[in-house]
Amino acid sequence: MQALVLERKQQLALREIDLDEPLAAGDVRIAIDTVGICGSDVHYYQHGRIGPFVVDAPMVLGHEAAGVVVEVGSAVRHLQAGDRVTMEPGIPDPASRASRLGIYNLDPAVRFWATPPVHGVLRPTVVHPAAFTFRIPDNVGFDEAAMVEPLAVGMHAANKARIQPGDVAVVIGAGPIGMVTALAALAGGCSAIVIADPVQPKLELAASLGPVTTVNPAREDLATVTAGLTEGWGADIVFECSGSPAAAAGVLEPLAPGGRVVLIGMPGEPVAFDVVAAQVKEARIETVFRYAHVYPRALALMASGRIDVKPLITDTFAFGESVRAFDYACAMPPNSVKVQIDLGAG
Ligand SMILES: [Zn+2]
Repeated sequence: MQALVLERKQQLALREIDLDEPLAAGDVRIAIDTVGICGSDVHYYQHGRIGPFVVDAPMVLGHEAAGVVVEVGSAVRHLQAGDRVTMEPGIPDPASRASRLGIYNLDPAVRFWATPPVHGVLRPTVVHPAAFTFRIPDNVGFDEAAMVEPLAVGMHAANKARIQPGDVAVVIGAGPIGMVTALAALAGGCSAIVIADPVQPKLELAASLGPVTTVNPAREDLATVTAGLTEGWGADIVFECSGSPAAAAGVLEPLAPGGRVVLIGMPGEPVAFDVVAAQVKEARIETVFRYAHVYPRALALMASGRIDVKPLITDTFAFGESVRAFDYACAMPPNSVKVQIDLGAG
């Protein structure tokens, strides 16, 4: 089949690749309609690796996908051919200790699309376990459904924060993950978000998402603005979504006493952590790695209108333009958030 293949670092090709995929009893075969380009896809394209994961053989990219079921395995009951679906890209070993504990995202054996050596889904069809395949509500488009994957990260972060109704949250970073974290935090009960990013067009888009105050750290101090909105108390929650080592080191400054920090962005180097500054606020520090158990909730929030991801889908390319789409995503204009590729199955 035709697929977008990362041959090696900085070399992409839309070409034929032989992917033999038998359909097991618990699987479905899906015709792919829409795939979002993730920062990780771009990182593999540019650098050929992320941490310990190295691209040392040709690999199909893409993991943020939605499509249409075209074939179901003999044991599948909740899906049928013609169903519009979105898929969780990480498949754990269901018998693993992590899976049995409900933390299947932390299973060391998890196989995740477009993480070496597992092929991604920028291709016409894929076979996937039905248990990790979710029907899309009728009023949710394929483009929105392909946003469930990044939104799931924000949903998981909102869960980890244990939001209480009326909480004020700071979100550091207004990239795609910062945006979806703000949406999930508002849907989860936050009354206000303060979002910080040095790129002004991103702040302008973020301000349109709800009760969001924007901070450009080039001109304003995040802790000062947050204090001004909270009678000097600080934010109940700080979500670090930038991955900037300096930002990660500064998460305690806008935080209220008794507050929670959720670390989502992944700094490329170790970050010095001020233990005493955390202790005097009794800060609770949480981390996230991908997500678990949030796809149905994300889809339900989209269907209900409580979360609208459409403003974040800024650019769409045809499958035949996939290489151009990736080059565009490598040099994203400041007013772009999410680039998607339309394979046209739906
Ligand atoms: Zn992603």
